[in-house]
Amino acid sequence: MIDLRSDTVTRPTPEMRDAMLSARTGDDVYGEDPTVNELEESMALLTGKEAALFAPSGTQSNLLALLSHCQRGHEYIVGRTAHTYLYEGGGAAVLGGIQPNPLPFAPDGTLPLEAVVETIKPNDPHFAITRLVCLENTQGGKVLPLDYLRAYRDLMEEKGLRRHLDGARLFNAAVALGLPAAEICAHFDSVSLCLSKGLGCPVGSVLVGDRKLIANARRWRKMLGGGMRQAGILAAAGLHALCHHIDRLCDDHAKAARVARALAQLPTFTLAEEPQTNMVMLAANTPIPSLKDHLQDHGIVISGTRWVFHLDISDDDVDRLINACQSFQPEAGSEERRS
Ligand SMILES: *Cc1c(COP(=O)(O)O)cnc(C)c1O
Repeated sequence: MIDLRSDTVTRPTPEMRDAMLSARTGDDVYGEDPTVNELEESMALLTGKEAALFAPSGTQSNLLALLSHCQRGHEYIVGRTAHTYLYEGGGAAVLGGIQPNPLPFAPDGTLPLEAVVETIKPNDPHFAITRLVCLENTQGGKVLPLDYLRAYRDLMEEKGLRRHLDGARLFNAAVALGLPAAEICAHFDSVSLCLSKGLGCPVGSVLVGDRKLIANARRWRKMLGGGMRQAGILAAAGLHALCHHIDRLCDDHAKAARVARALAQLPTFTLAEEPQTNMVMLAANTPIPSLKDHLQDHGIVISGTRWVFHLDISDDDVDRLINACQSFQPEAGSEERRS
């Protein structure tokens, strides 16, 4: 099966499994797992931050950041379709008493700074206290422009607000820009990075920031049940990925670009936008139910208009996908027929 639903579906490679099998371990709640410690140090180094914390998921890593930056009665400004608002069960509000203030993303994945400025609440006891502005990079596969990040950082400094990045796919952004991850991370107080997406690990995310923030996040992680013991088994996969699976992300980007070029030649397909990283986005009017059935018959799994390319998609798979798309005919007369 060719699975395009997400880059979370990758299976650990034989080399990654070997690294996990031979990992040195200790009790990480005591800070004694050498492999976890090495992963945290490596990630801090790669992102240019003082410290890092290994977490079981990106949802928890983002929550640790929100709980560490904000207190009960604080507010964070966030994209309306951001993971940290829409896809994390309302965790910041449920568990932290932190109120989200969602704004629409611009088409390029940024939060327009004029809208952010208007949304920041004045110091008035009627209002929650605006504390943090959270961005996402990549956002729907799009890379936030560096000059936007500079302007965001300047504005946050001027307003005295904290900066968190949901960098679940930060390395995709860094590779697309041809820059070290640290150059993006420099614009944020904290960044959450996923190991379980394009990097191909079975589990795990890492939160990076300054020592004080990470010490605080470590307390929250324990409280939330995220203190893991011989987690070096999992961290070894992360270390392996940092060495072997970052530079290759450009292959995933090239595959997405190739598929987009092929689809652009077909009258039956419309792209919502040009891919910048590992995602092909089809137009909203794509007849997904019949396309899904057609692709399923060719051994290809999709969930909707977002097709995600990853470690487990080969060049042959891309050929098969393009062939299957070329033979797709939306059923004439079906109610989902494209206008
Ligand atoms: C996947 C993802 C996360 C974290 O998800 P988990 O499944 O909890 O690891 C966070 N943000 C974005 C944008 C994501 O795509």
